Amino acid sequence: MDRALLLFCLLGIGSLVQAQTIPSINPDEARLARCFEMLRSNPKQSVEIALEMLDRPALSPRVETRAQACLAFSRQLLGDHAGTAEAVDRVLAIADSGNLDETERLQAIVSISPLLQFLGRVTEALERLTEAQTLAIQLDDRSSQTIALFGIGNVHAIELGNNERALEYFQQVRDLAPPGTRLQLDGAYAHAYTLMLMGRHQQARPELERLLSDANRQAHGITVLRVRSHLAEVQRLDGDIAGASAVFETLHAEQHAVGDSAGEAITRLRLARVHLQTGELDRARTHAEAALLLMESGRFEMETMEALLLLAEVHEAAGAPAAALPLLRREREMAAARTQRQNMAQLAVLQDSIDDITSAHRSERQRIELGQANRRRDLALVALAMVILLVGVVGVHQRRTHTRLRHLSATDPLTGLLNRREMLRRLAALPAPADGQRMLLLLIDVDHFKSINTRHGHAEGDTVLAAISTWLTEACDAGDLVARWGGEEFLVARPATDLDGAARFAEHVRAGVRDGSVVLDDGQRVSVTVSIGAAPVPFFPGDPPHLPAGIRIADSALRAVKGSGRDGWAVLWGHAAGVSDATLASVEHDPMRAADNGWLRIQSSRPLQWPARALAAAALGDAAPE
Ligand code: GH3
Ligand code: MG
Ligand code: MG
Repeated sequence: MDRALLLFCLLGIGSLVQAQTIPSINPDEARLARCFEMLRSNPKQSVEIALEMLDRPALSPRVETRAQACLAFSRQLLGDHAGTAEAVDRVLAIADSGNLDETERLQAIVSISPLLQFLGRVTEALERLTEAQTLAIQLDDRSSQTIALFGIGNVHAIELGNNERALEYFQQVRDLAPPGTRLQLDGAYAHAYTLMLMGRHQQARPELERLLSDANRQAHGITVLRVRSHLAEVQRLDGDIAGASAVFETLHAEQHAVGDSAGEAITRLRLARVHLQTGELDRARTHAEAALLLMESGRFEMETMEALLLLAEVHEAAGAPAAALPLLRREREMAAARTQRQNMAQLAVLQDSIDDITSAHRSERQRIELGQANRRRDLALVALAMVILLVGVVGVHQRRTHTRLRHLSATDPLTGLLNRREMLRRLAALPAPADGQRMLLLLIDVDHFKSINTRHGHAEGDTVLAAISTWLTEACDAGDLVARWGGEEFLVARPATDLDGAARFAEHVRAGVRDGSVVLDDGQRVSVTVSIGAAPVPFFPGDPPHLPAGIRIADSALRAVKGSGRDGWAVLWGHAAGVSDATLASVEHDPMRAADNGWLRIQSSRPLQWPARALAAAALGDAAPE
């Protein structure tokens, strides 16, 4: 469970606790209240209180259930998954033992379901929520009914990525919850926010505005700040970038001040995107890095991924693809791990049971709405309800923003080739080559392209670039990846080759471009040539693949060709096995000396001039040539 989220939820609890002065409070109730209160500031102490209570003999099942629930949440906050599971299982065992009355049983189940979800026991969470819902209907317990609905909406949003369905549930939460309560406010929040994240921000706007005044009235400071951030995001989407930016600038500090690190991180990500949009890359990087740090320490998985992608985008925009690469790789690994967790069989089971629940609860809904007044509120239940609610809210956010990012274009509009970002993503995702095999990178730069623009104009230059991309693609095999790497630069990756294969391929590509010609609008026929630098990844056989090094070495080779007459290629091919990283660095700095030492072989279409100093400077920079 996300620490920042729980903090957020429990901030609301303090006032609830005070409002609910329980007459002649017994010592157990007082201790339980303290246990839940301390979750916010000191979960370790909550663990101690719970354990101390559980240590006593002859504890009533009702008290034990709630002490175990408090223990489960505090352990979850402390990252103790095994301990959490143990306490959760104990709560469920008592609930199933027949020693609780129906109301207590209902509350126990509702309270513990979100933890089941966090423990990855999603099917079980859903079954328990269904059970709780049925029980709540029988008992006319509208609060528990509403909370169970929120939990189910949550599963739709987080585990199934089905926001249409989640939206329905959040709407029911909003409509069923007692007016003016926190529950209703959070239902409305989840509903409005889901709309916005589904791209329906015009529809979200009036709901957010209503929420803002409700949250203001109820003095829910954190909600107020978050809603203001969402409204500013709507403003940005409507094209008022300066207005939105001004709001984000003041908001993130306010969110920091109230300790809402999740909200702060989201606002900072939005601010980073604004700065990226306006080309203020340093500021974009600062905010994206701060957001990433907050996301990571809060263990917000999906948002960490979003921050990684955004930061990578900033580095790429700043012309530092090598810095973007490890970020993209990490994002990729997180995404893969996540997918693995959500295996399809489990999702199919979920979908089935959810369909049943939906039809069941629809027919019962009228009855609930006509039902009796709420049962008395159980302090622990209220605390845990908040947890469920806020998990839902952020879960939806995480899923939506991530899906949106995934849909960012993968191709370059002019040439239709993969863009740099997508190329990096694909390269990072490639499986390790089989034993002894190495991937080949060709970095290709058009010769004297500026003069094409000068002579024929920029638009005709574009036509030539599009033609070059066609010739390149024709020269490649189906398994090769071809990307527009920068303005008039291209990157080709071929999965497995040896040195001779690399040389043949480079020559094939060079000739393919030189043999092509394009007729421009003014009737002139234009031919171009390219210079190509090539290197394998991993550079030395048997080493782990290091893409940035491969790109830098290919870049060195390319610069050597440029300095030796252009219209040619050079391949640098490491061949000493088990050479250390330090040696890899020295190859980057001085390929000629590395060749003299016998660490690599060089093949080229023409004799190479190695401008050693220029080369070293080039190799030190982490970007491809601009
Ligand atoms: P060299 O052989 O040394 O590579 O010479 P060059 O002129 O190709 O190299 P330089 O990197 O100095 O110039 C690249 C030019 O490519 C500058 C830029 O205007 C042009 N260019 C970059 N992107 C585009 C584009 O999308 N369309 C057009 N028409 N030109 C572009
Ligand atoms: Mg060029
Ligand atoms: Mg260039």
